[in-house]
This record gives sequence, C-alpha cells and structure tokens, in this order.
Amino acid sequence: MQRTDVNTFGEFGLIEHLTRDFPIRQPSTLKGIGDDAAVIDNGAFCTVVSTDLLVEGIHFDLAYVPLKHLGYKAVVVNLSDIYAMNAIPKQITVSIALSNRFSVEALDELYEGIRAACNAYSVDLIGGDTTSAPKGLTISITAIGQGEKNRLVYRNGAKPGDLICITGDLGAAYLGLQILEREKRLYLEHPGVQPDLEDQKYAISRQLKPEARRDMIEIFQKIDLKPTAMIDISDGLASEIFHICRQSGVGALVEESGIPMHPDAELLALKFKLDPATCALNGGEDYELLFTINPADIEKVRFLPEIYIAGEILEAKDGIRLQTKGGNLHPLKAQGWNHFNETAAE
Ligand code: ADP
Ligand code: MG
Repeated sequence: MQRTDVNTFGEFGLIEHLTRDFPIRQPSTLKGIGDDAAVIDNGAFCTVVSTDLLVEGIHFDLAYVPLKHLGYKAVVVNLSDIYAMNAIPKQITVSIALSNRFSVEALDELYEGIRAACNAYSVDLIGGDTTSAPKGLTISITAIGQGEKNRLVYRNGAKPGDLICITGDLGAAYLGLQILEREKRLYLEHPGVQPDLEDQKYAISRQLKPEARRDMIEIFQKIDLKPTAMIDISDGLASEIFHICRQSGVGALVEESGIPMHPDAELLALKFKLDPATCALNGGEDYELLFTINPADIEKVRFLPEIYIAGEILEAKDGIRLQTKGGNLHPLKAQGWNHFNETAAE
C-alpha cells in the first residue's frame, strides 16, 4: 500500500486533495471551500461561516501568551474572516480539548478573553464542545455572520486595472512574535532577568491582541464602496495576493513603497537585521484587509485614513510582481505560514 507523506502537498495542496470529490449539491451553498468563509443563501441575506483550529505548540506558546489574550485573539481571527467577506459576524461557537494540566482558573482566564472579544464585537457565544485530551490545549472556533447577498465580496472578483488597497499597517505582529521568542530564549538562559519590552509595545500588542477591521466594513457601507475582491491578511501580504490572483485569474504589480508599515515595526525589523518589506510581505498575523477596487472608485478611498493603495491588478500573463523602492521588478514570492513545511504556498 502506498504511503504519501502529508508534507508532499503543502497545506493548500492537501486541502485541495482531500476535498476534491465533494461536489456542491445544495443550491443554497453559494460558496463552499476556498474563500475566507463559506456562504449560504437565505434569500436577500446570506449566512457566512468560517472556522479555525488553534493548537498549543503550533499556533501559540503559553510561555508568553497569556490565556486571556489567547481567548481574545482566537475569536478575533475568526471574526476577521467574516469581515473579509464584507459581512457582519453575529455568533460564535467555541470548542476546546484540554489536558488536566489546565485548572478551572486557567480556563476562566481563557473565557475572560473570549468574553471581552464578544463584548467588543457584539457577537454571541452560542455553543461549542468540551473534551479532555492527552496533552496540551486545542481551541476550535466557528464564526457565523450575515451579509447582504449583493454586497458580499469574494476573493475571485479582481479585474485587470483594479487598484490594490491595504488597511492599517503590516509586519508588526511578526516582529512582536520575534521579540517574544527572543525574550523566551533569554529567560530560559537567565531565569532571573526581567524583560524590558517598553519600546516594543506596539509590535507586541499587534501580536498578542490583534483587532479585526470591523471599522473598515462600516466605512465601506457608509461611503457605498464595494471592493471587487477581498481577503484578510493572516498569512502575510504576499500569500494573500497570490490567493486573490489565483482565484480571480489575474496578475498583480505590488509596489514596495506602497506597503504600509508602522515606524516602530520598521525600526524593529532593522534591529533584527530583517528587511522591513519582507516582514510585511511574509510575516503574517496582521489581520488587516487586502482588497481591490475599481479605479472609478479611487476618489472614495483616496483621502480615507488607514487605507493605502499599494499596486494594481494586471492580466494573468503579466505575472505577480513586486516593484522595489529602487525601481527593480521581481517576481513576488509567497512564503506565508505553512504548518506542514517551509515551501512556498504556490
Ligand atoms: P483562512 O486562512 O482564511 O482561515 P484556510 O487557508 O484555513 O483559510 O482554508 C482555505 C479553505 O479551505 C477554506 O475555505 C477552508 O474552509 C477550507 N478547508 C481547510 N481545511 C479543510 C478541511 N480539512 N476540509 C474541508 N475544507 C477545509
Ligand atoms: Mg482568511
């Protein structure tokens, strides 16, 4: 009997392989696998569903992630996928598998964070499941949202000539993780030393307490802007550009000078001897939005704070390219996070 290692396909290849023989049977399934969330037709309104699994040792390290922050972030990253459809999250379910290493008090902390996120984003916790596990902590959250059918935005609507827009700033969450990992190493080597994290607050807060861009979805509604395609930036800008291009059947030109970064993140990158743009392109966990707009809509976004134009959608034959600050053109590479291996997402 043949035995193929799961690493052979990479994360996205594996999903495609496993789900290849599942045709859509229900007319109400408007979108199945392949976007930030699935979409179910309920008439004028659609139900939007997204689910995520967080595993201790793979997605989080309790050596430096407080349980309260973990609960908050676990909810927020799911809500981010609902907003990325231009929909509004309404409910969540939370399932946990845990070893007896965790006390009731520890779980109370986790749920304090979950409660804080439910309050901040006005979503209801409506169910879940609880089980013991031989080791560690695993959290699975499903977010359910609602969107108007003709206002939902998918990954596949980008057209040549559309402008590429990014909200907020990128790279800081990855740099925050580098700081926390470094402090963990130092602490293990010199247990008495208290870390000095004062000037790294921004990056650490971006890593430990990300927010989903609900405000942007509200702005789109207010200014009557419907992006042509949208995705949340969870794996790094490069990987998300690839998703939009692949699903829309287009190419792209990204300008390095248009990629927004916080000054603290730029300085930190240099301190870590990393290229700031590489942190933004491949870092991940920023939970900002990447979206494309029809150029006729440029006046709607030009003067909005926290929305930056970072390039243009091209024909597929033009490829996916990065124009560096020095003016050189390179093919864009998507490393992203791949929990099975380190190869590119494409
Ligand atoms: P995101 O990064 O936005 O959370 P993922 O990359 O995790 O999305 O997943 C990509 C798509 O594949 C989504 O539509 C997701 O629902 C689907 N998917 C992931 N894993 C599985 C699986 N084991 N079985 C079925 N669908 C899956
Ligand atoms: Mg997503």
